[in-house]
Amino acid sequence: MSDPLTAEHVLEFPGGYTRSTGPVIGRFLTELRAGRIVGTRTAGGRVLVPPLEYDPATGDPVTGEYVEVGPAGTVTACAWVAEPRPEHPLDRPFAWALIQLDGADTALVHAVDAGNPKAVRPGTRVWPVWRGERRGHITDLSCFAPEVTRIVSPVRVPYTLRAGGALGVFLEGIRRGVFIGGRCASCGKVYVPYRLSCPQCGVAIGERVELPDTGTVTTFAINNLPDPRAPEVPFVSAYVLLDGADVPLIALVGGIPAHEVRQGMRVRAEWVPESERTASMANIRWFAPTGELDVEL
Ligand SMILES: [Zn+2]
Repeated sequence: MSDPLTAEHVLEFPGGYTRSTGPVIGRFLTELRAGRIVGTRTAGGRVLVPPLEYDPATGDPVTGEYVEVGPAGTVTACAWVAEPRPEHPLDRPFAWALIQLDGADTALVHAVDAGNPKAVRPGTRVWPVWRGERRGHITDLSCFAPEVTRIVSPVRVPYTLRAGGALGVFLEGIRRGVFIGGRCASCGKVYVPYRLSCPQCGVAIGERVELPDTGTVTTFAINNLPDPRAPEVPFVSAYVLLDGADVPLIALVGGIPAHEVRQGMRVRAEWVPESERTASMANIRWFAPTGELDVEL
């Protein structure tokens, strides 16, 4: 048997097919043009959005009452469209969603411009995004967008830090290229930076101790986020226990690839040239390996 004869046709109304809306959809679209979303109330009191002429539950005509709903609503279900087609309302990935507008008992299908699929899920609150020029069409609602819950704002807070007594003593030492610590007369612990009282014993610290600029890495972190104080990424910040101190100091470690830094590594402060020094920790570029054998911690 031979194949049946076929011919390809396209039914198309290039100028658009004019159809009448009926009173209910007509009212809905007219309200859209005015920037409002309305539903119809059923005899049972439910609000249908988009509006219908008949209550789908009972088949009875709806009441003549139009109820303004929204404009915000809650997503009840959604599907992410990763590759929009030409006829889709948005030219970038978006979600098709069922949106129950505030005050409505049924949900409306519309596009949600969420940016990424994680930003839209059942329960997400969304608001309409209106077209600049409305003409009484469902596309007067360009789409919906998730509620604004966060913003990114630039922050810059210049402030002056006054060193105070103890830190002043320490930074004056740093200006000279010396670490100044304090020894507690009660427990004998040496604290660096110098401080006025022992956090363990609570007694005032009177004795100042000059410590060498060598020490041991006790613990460290490899940082992959840039920091204005660090020369490059990744960089290593470490706790360095200066020789003779009982508490470690936090400092950069440099002069060695980040992945080669280890606990127990011996390091020495690398100072900027004397002519560039101020009473600031910027005097120490970083701590670099001394080449000595690692220390058992
Ligand atoms: Zn003490």
